[in-house]
Amino acid sequence: MDYQQIISDIYRQILPYAKEGKQADYIPELAKVNPDQFGMCIQTIEGDVAAIESADTRFSIQSISKVFALAMCLSIKGDSLWKRVGKEPSGTAFNSLVQLEVEHGIPRNPFINAGAIVMADILLSELDNAEEEFLGFVRAVAGNDTIDYNPAVAISERENGYLNASIANLLKYHHSIENDIESVLHFYFMMCSVEMSCRELSGAFLAFANHHREFDYAGVKLTSSQVKRMNAIMQTCGFYDEAGEFSYLVGLPGKSGVGGGIVAIYPLQYSVAVWSPRLNSKGNSVMGIKALELLTSETKESIF
Ligand code: GLU
Repeated sequence: MDYQQIISDIYRQILPYAKEGKQADYIPELAKVNPDQFGMCIQTIEGDVAAIESADTRFSIQSISKVFALAMCLSIKGDSLWKRVGKEPSGTAFNSLVQLEVEHGIPRNPFINAGAIVMADILLSELDNAEEEFLGFVRAVAGNDTIDYNPAVAISERENGYLNASIANLLKYHHSIENDIESVLHFYFMMCSVEMSCRELSGAFLAFANHHREFDYAGVKLTSSQVKRMNAIMQTCGFYDEAGEFSYLVGLPGKSGVGGGIVAIYPLQYSVAVWSPRLNSKGNSVMGIKALELLTSETKESIF
């Protein structure tokens, strides 16, 4: 498969959508990003790499960080993790409060904000220095020591994070988080603020694409079965209330973020990351979804 040729053709085909959608501005720092950017990188488990446009530009990974947080929590807690958080698709927006209230403070899954805030609480309780160890894990799995938090983005989100603060308060009311709300929110926003490029993200997600390889990065160890199950959760819960649509259009497990990034994997074949800041009404990158839809349609490669 000539992925370089394929993704270059795809880019030409999706250019008409370049102005569709709107970048996230509820985090003021994210509104400063030039929305007219697009990057894509695909890496196979055999080591082939194809990249186009701004594949090396770092962006805010936002909710894609939830996959890294889940990997760490699963490695520490094993199956007992599922007492704190569910693994069913939410069918609601990423920051919905309603479901959390009805379900008495147990988040539907680790990829909605409430679930990730519980993950942040677990890591704070279990690790000596959660911020340092989280970054250490991301750097190790991506094989790049220069990846970092962007504290300006985290502060900007904290200053405007009324809804996430409500979620944290509701979780605390239901005794679903142990640590104080401020520390949990701070760590959650820091995780979301990590910046990576499409090349770095697709490289990191090869660890999930290839569940036959040992998963052991900076002390975070997962069995092959745990990696496979994480992929299942990405398939069913990776795109908020658009998980069904993404499954229908693209047919790969993945995770999106409001920074405009999407990463998806084709198990035992490749990992692919796309980035373009303009989002659709569900918070997913317009060009990103189009690119991945074309990728799996043209290559006839998807899990279905
Ligand atoms: N930090 C963002 C928030 O909590 C993450 C949301 C996302 O990327 O979907 O609102």
